[in-house]
Amino acid sequence: MDFGFAAGDEVFRGEARAWLGANVSDTADRRAWERTLGKAGWIGIGWGESGYGNRSATLTQQVVWAEEYARSGAPPRSGHIGEKLLAPTLLAHGTDEQKARFLPPVAVGEELWCQGYSEPGAGSDLAGVRTKAERASDGTYRVSGQKIWTSLAHEADWCFVLARTDPESVRHHGLSFLLVPMDQPGRIEVRPIRQMTGTSDFNEVFFDGAHARVEHVVGGEGAGWKVAMSLLGFERGVSTLAQQIGFAQELGRVVETAVRSGAVGDPVVRERLVRQWAELRVMRWNALRTLGRAGDAGAPSVAKLLWGGWHQRLGELAMQVRGAAAGVGPVEWSASAPYGLDEAQHLFLFSRADTIYGGSDQVQRTIIAERVLGLPREPKGVV
Ligand SMILES: Cc1cc2nc3c(=O)[nH]c(=O)nc-3n(C[C@H](O)[C@H](O)[C@H](O)COP(=O)(O)OP(=O)(O)OC[C@H]3O[C@@H](n4cnc5c(N)ncnc54)[C@H](O)[C@@H]3O)c2cc1C
Repeated sequence: MDFGFAAGDEVFRGEARAWLGANVSDTADRRAWERTLGKAGWIGIGWGESGYGNRSATLTQQVVWAEEYARSGAPPRSGHIGEKLLAPTLLAHGTDEQKARFLPPVAVGEELWCQGYSEPGAGSDLAGVRTKAERASDGTYRVSGQKIWTSLAHEADWCFVLARTDPESVRHHGLSFLLVPMDQPGRIEVRPIRQMTGTSDFNEVFFDGAHARVEHVVGGEGAGWKVAMSLLGFERGVSTLAQQIGFAQELGRVVETAVRSGAVGDPVVRERLVRQWAELRVMRWNALRTLGRAGDAGAPSVAKLLWGGWHQRLGELAMQVRGAAAGVGPVEWSASAPYGLDEAQHLFLFSRADTIYGGSDQVQRTIIAERVLGLPREPKGVV
């Protein structure tokens, strides 16, 4: 399918822009913001005619909403894991009861989710998951093990956990996808991980016999790998174009700083600024070209590889155009920026993660090598 905006999309854009203009504020209460979004019908607009979302938007309208959201300066979403990852997975693999129980609270911004995949010994190699879920005498599961890098676990009400339900199993066999309530004092402990930015966006999560109900296993016991992989397929898509709006804003501020500081007088800096701009244009055309086109095995990996490195280089450039002053801090201390980092410093430090999460650069190159170029599969270690 060729991707193009339809005439009616501009009306939709006007509606989205007007609502955001009237409702975006500086509030730090991200839960309240989720409820505001839900109440106004802006959550779940990509859930199709499922009956569980709010208004049903076309693919181009979803892009328009995401672009306007990024442009408005609205806060980062706390509800995106539930809305963008869990919900499409439940729509594809969940029972009617699971959809009826879990989708409405996501659509109104009441229940927040986190993703319990990675473990200390299972990141890129996710099939190495060791967290166990054993059936207790009352028929429910007891979940034990450790997850790590769990974004938003400190805010979440629920976690979808990839765990081993068959103790004899290895690798991707014998895993299940369980929906686990987070409010289980003594059985679930969330420990924040302090990042080099001074903030804690992700956590270690320890499960010590946490309870999960049998009817909350998605796709059935033992089907966890299939469900988990299907969820990862939802990780990208319309959000790519919106992300580029944010990137363009950041690049604009780096250019402004370069002009102000006089760094634009340096031909090397000028060349790097123009290169960032040109590469961003290429990423946009690539995203438009591949959006809505299923079955392009390499497209998500190429997009991830492009933007991860691009954003890191922007962070480095943001520091370079400030000159030696960029290495000095703190400026001002606050709860959300404990080290008092300014925007350029925060961008520089946080973007180190961009080539890791969502599949590292090395992993993306392996996917492209094997699925697009048809190179021999990489040798696996002995299991
Ligand atoms: C900001 C952030 C948020 C995150 N949020 C979540 C979350 O909410 N939930 C969750 O479950 N996880 C989350 N993660 C974890 C993320 O998915 C993992 O960090 C990622 O999968 C990499 O795994 P790892 O950290 O164990 O590194 P490893 O897999 O140990 O990799 C270490 C290095 O080895 C390289 N490497 C690994 N395997 C190969 C290979 N076969 N060939 C070549 N090189 C290889 C990698 O590219 C990397 O450079 C988050 C991570 C970050 C940074």
